[in-house]
Amino acid sequence: MKRLLLTAIAAIAIGSAEAQKFDDYFENKTLRLDYIFAGDSASQAIYFEQAFSMPQWAGRKDRLSEKFLNGNGQITVRDHKNGNIIYINTFSTLFQEWQTTEEATQVRKAFETSYIVPFPKQPVDVTVTLTDVHNKVSSELTHTIDPTDILIRPIGENGIPFKYIMKNGGIDQCVDIAIVAEGYTETDMDKFYKDAQRAADAIFGHEPFKSMQNRFNVVAVASPSQDGGPCVPREGKWKRSATNSHYDTFYSDRYLMTSDIHKVYDILSGVPFEHIIVLVNSSTYGGGGIYNQITLSTSDHSTFKQVLVHEFGHAYGGLGDEYYYDDQYSTMYPADTEPWEPNLTTLVDFESKWADLVPKKTPIPTPPAKIPNFKTLKPDDKKGWKALNEATQVVGVFEGGGYQTKGVYRPAQECRMKINEVEHFCPVCSRAIVRITDFYTAH
Ligand SMILES: [Zn+2]
Repeated sequence: MKRLLLTAIAAIAIGSAEAQKFDDYFENKTLRLDYIFAGDSASQAIYFEQAFSMPQWAGRKDRLSEKFLNGNGQITVRDHKNGNIIYINTFSTLFQEWQTTEEATQVRKAFETSYIVPFPKQPVDVTVTLTDVHNKVSSELTHTIDPTDILIRPIGENGIPFKYIMKNGGIDQCVDIAIVAEGYTETDMDKFYKDAQRAADAIFGHEPFKSMQNRFNVVAVASPSQDGGPCVPREGKWKRSATNSHYDTFYSDRYLMTSDIHKVYDILSGVPFEHIIVLVNSSTYGGGGIYNQITLSTSDHSTFKQVLVHEFGHAYGGLGDEYYYDDQYSTMYPADTEPWEPNLTTLVDFESKWADLVPKKTPIPTPPAKIPNFKTLKPDDKKGWKALNEATQVVGVFEGGGYQTKGVYRPAQECRMKINEVEHFCPVCSRAIVRITDFYTAH
């Protein structure tokens, strides 16, 4: 009986593997779906807005029905006839971050978002799901898309120039990153292309991206802003810019983000892309990164390289913040739930995380070693900086991470996902970036 059951399961597995053939279900085009997520700290709803078709599909063509990281939400495409999953992608949202703020206890707000999926050949059912901090579904919307629907608006080249600053292969072979100009006027575009090149150099000068750079393409998109420079609301500085980004998101000085996601996607309508970096023409400290949604970084702050790599770690690798503070408003990582971020654990399911990388006999929690404090280290103290950087490579289970002092554990004492002052990702973050890149590109 058992054997029979196993045979049946194997057959299903083979069936679904075959069902994943890209050409059976999809055209080499992109379906863009626009949504509104709305609610407050206690409730949420998802609304479908409209659909677009775009030429070319730059996303993965293999492992289409596999989910790599959970994220805080997912978009699932099913064959309308038989209900088989034919594509999944996962993501996080600015809306869900906002739901943890105090403001969300006072008012209901709406956030726009867009997702791209391969363009189906036959009618499909698209399900958008949001999950809460306990990884339980908090909201779900399913709607049918008929690819012959006359209201799917075709969009494409929009006159905004773009050029490759790193091209290592076809869009179906490589991970495609688009760097979008923000706060650059028409006459600033020479600077933008140079800044975009520096941004690409920052990411791909950094391991593990450096060793894998032949699996990435980077395209720079010269979207002009009417005014140059960033919006800094706390200084009353507002500019007419391409993506409407600004500092002071959720009243946090350094949180540089845009909530006008549709606008960003409009800019990218003729560009083959999978991951978006908005490069803000600014020397003010700040940035932001949301998993499978967007990265924002400044072009000219002295720590721009470090911040960009950190934020891209969130947006591309799904990495969580390894820092913590005592006065966090709410708990994003409750003690009864294992976080989906590969570099954080509550020890609920540590085996699924980096247990295999922890040296034997390492106590949990791992007592912090005496390492230099980056805040007091003198710039010329070479020995001190070396010791600090070496601490990033020692794996343990250190308490404190994900904004919480207690109950959340991180893999190393210091890491690029914790402070800007160290060079490297810890081994756990590095492995996570390698693994997700394999997921997208290893055929
Ligand atoms: Zn790390």
